Amino acid sequence: MSIALKNIVLVVQATWSGESLDAVVETVSIDSRSLQNSSHTLFFALVGPNNDAHTYIKDLVHSGVKNFVVQYIPEGCAGKANFLVVQNTLTALQDFAAYYRSTFHFPVLGITGSNGKTIVKEWLNFLLSPDFNVIRSPKSYNSQVGVPLSVVAINEKHNLGIFEAGISTVQEMAQLQKVIQPTIGVLTNIGTSHDEGFVNLEQKIKQKLLLFEHVSVLIYQKNKVVDQCLDPAIQVFSWSFEDPKASVFIFKKQTDAQGTLIEYRYKQNNAAFKIPFQDNASIENAISCLMVLLHFNYDSTLISSRLALLFPVEMRLKLKDGINNCTLIDDSYSSDFQSLKIALDFLESQKKLENKTVILSDIFQSGLSNEVLYAKVAQLILSNNIHRVIGIGHTISEFKDRFQNCITFADTAAFIDNFETLEFANETILVKGARSFEFEQIVSLLEEKTHETVLEINLNAISHNLNFFKSKLQPKVKIMVMVKAFGYGNGGLEIANLLQHHKVDYLGVAFADEGIALKNGGIELPIMVLNPENSSFSAIIHHQLEPEIYCLKGLHAFLKIAKQKNLQHFPIHIKLDTGMHRLGFEKEAIPELIATLKGNPHVKVQSILSHLATSDDLVHRDFTISQINLFETLSSRIILELENHPIRHILNTSGISNYPDAQYNMVRLGIGLYGVSNDPLEQKYLENVGTLKSVISQIRTIAPGQSVGYGRKFMAQSTTNVATIPIGYADGISRGWGNGVGFVIIKNKKATIIGSICMDMLMVDVTAIDCREGDAVVIFGEKPTVSYLAKKLKTIPYEILTSISQRVKRVFYR
Ligand SMILES: *Cc1c(COP(=O)(O)O)cnc(C)c1O
Repeated sequence: MSIALKNIVLVVQATWSGESLDAVVETVSIDSRSLQNSSHTLFFALVGPNNDAHTYIKDLVHSGVKNFVVQYIPEGCAGKANFLVVQNTLTALQDFAAYYRSTFHFPVLGITGSNGKTIVKEWLNFLLSPDFNVIRSPKSYNSQVGVPLSVVAINEKHNLGIFEAGISTVQEMAQLQKVIQPTIGVLTNIGTSHDEGFVNLEQKIKQKLLLFEHVSVLIYQKNKVVDQCLDPAIQVFSWSFEDPKASVFIFKKQTDAQGTLIEYRYKQNNAAFKIPFQDNASIENAISCLMVLLHFNYDSTLISSRLALLFPVEMRLKLKDGINNCTLIDDSYSSDFQSLKIALDFLESQKKLENKTVILSDIFQSGLSNEVLYAKVAQLILSNNIHRVIGIGHTISEFKDRFQNCITFADTAAFIDNFETLEFANETILVKGARSFEFEQIVSLLEEKTHETVLEINLNAISHNLNFFKSKLQPKVKIMVMVKAFGYGNGGLEIANLLQHHKVDYLGVAFADEGIALKNGGIELPIMVLNPENSSFSAIIHHQLEPEIYCLKGLHAFLKIAKQKNLQHFPIHIKLDTGMHRLGFEKEAIPELIATLKGNPHVKVQSILSHLATSDDLVHRDFTISQINLFETLSSRIILELENHPIRHILNTSGISNYPDAQYNMVRLGIGLYGVSNDPLEQKYLENVGTLKSVISQIRTIAPGQSVGYGRKFMAQSTTNVATIPIGYADGISRGWGNGVGFVIIKNKKATIIGSICMDMLMVDVTAIDCREGDAVVIFGEKPTVSYLAKKLKTIPYEILTSISQRVKRVFYR
């Protein structure tokens, strides 16, 4: 983004006062704590019910922010920055976002409906991101503030937008339409949730349809009420389970233990796909996705291969293993009537256990009187054959006698006090409540505690990080992802599979064995081997791996085998040493390299590469530039003489960030994929990938003067509660992290590691933490980060990640 302040004054209709209208805005912020606030930030001072951002302006001016959109200039600030004074800062933010949106011309999907918006958005992002650079609203940013903030994140690299819009009263949608300006509309399930702000269903539908006023096509499930409200001028692309006249007719859905097979007719052809879900909501959401793919002319084979990979979207209806052989459905997130229906439907699809229990809080946002509402809820629960109902909250307690086999508690704390008496065992339990009831406490009690140390890998975060770096690449620049050392400790094959789905161009491994394991696991992407030993050349050829050749000796050895096997144009990669002084041809060897390769029919130079020694440290910028220049000279000479067009590549992760002009035809992404950057600003845009977790095995209390662990390195000064965690230096936790230096996180609090770290265990001080045996322990992840550990241990994140031993189980999730 780069917009002159004088244009913004016009767009938001402001009165200006301040330093200079020539200032240029590069980012937008509404959060006074954001590290992004700088001289090129435009800060919108929003006024909320509990918070007026105008009160932070003085500090922001002090820290260097120069441009503000305000409703008034705070005392003492006049003349110290540019102030654009407007009637309403929220409207100004929306107008600004609408203007910014109008400067882009790629397709934008606008999604609304009562249910399924976030899931459809997340799924479409997953389904389309192999082919598009997608910008989408994060999480469920679908509000009056969230939508403009999502939209201002668009940049020149994006070529498809997916934004969701949610409204709770009339008037809001017209505003969101202006901001999103969707070109393709998707209407998901229209239910009865959030009805309070509307007179009736028809009004609600009409309001939602305002989003689609200017779309070129609207995708929706054929429905009488919607059809009555639709502007006949809008081009529609409809689907239906009942009406064969819909553009796509779903004539069969068949559910089995693995999922649901859906058969459809489109343009006189029948086709089918399978999804790993059984519930109706997922089926409808998957069909919405199908429609978008059909609209984009995907063929039915590709569609079915992608839809087969759909996954449950986080934060909703999580399925978990519970205590005493129970299964949990965790929906401790919302409690409207419509989503209760969806959750019960999902519960029904989990047929593993016969007994079903629902733990339900008071229900909000129904638009009905309590009498009517709870009669409907009771009816719904009855028709779903629920064995017992546990109601939590004052209102649901009042209506207890409407339910069969029902017990109620005034609040969550009362439930927890009586937890033992409820005897949960061998049943499926739906935990469903409004956020304010904090049912996550109940989930945590019911959840089975794991007894092991695991490294949890968030695959969504990997996709996010990949897309982040992809968005920095110029068009046509290819991407090789380094998955050496077991994907930097995160898991080789699983990550390679994901990367294959995202259609990266190349994978890079250190040794032939790593590449062979990937090929044997079904990876079809081309794989470059960085350090092939001469003894592995045969295996490399046999498995269609591509060796990096870095010296004349290696070249001659490879050519000899290539000739024996009579290979034709076998791809090899030529590594040049431009200053790293590790592997590679030096300048002096280039003439002989060229002479040897010239006219040789057995191999083909697929790429020429070099590696930067200090791309992360801008102090050595001149050195890096000299490396890049030498690479340019040497590689050009080879290309000229050999008369072919190999791929050239030199940038690793921090090279991508710091030397955007040296992308050549490909970059090699490593640590960044795994969520680590050494630039604090960039770090903010990356998502954490790995979380190393364990559990408390035992807790004891020791008296003053008693010691902990080998060598009695910790002496208690006062009565101390000590927790033992089953992870030690053999798992990859450095001994330097013990003896009061490091800590783990238990119940969101720091627990200092006391005494020396043992081979398989370590001990922490939990005196100040209310915890129990079996509670979860985080060693690193979101907090503390791998980078933090690395800094304190005077090493680099690479070493921490790759040190986690193979005996620690990797668990992948989305
Ligand atoms: C490991 C490696 C990379 C990736 O480096 P990061 O700093 O992790 O991005 C790139 N190129 C080569 C040759 C490597 O060995």
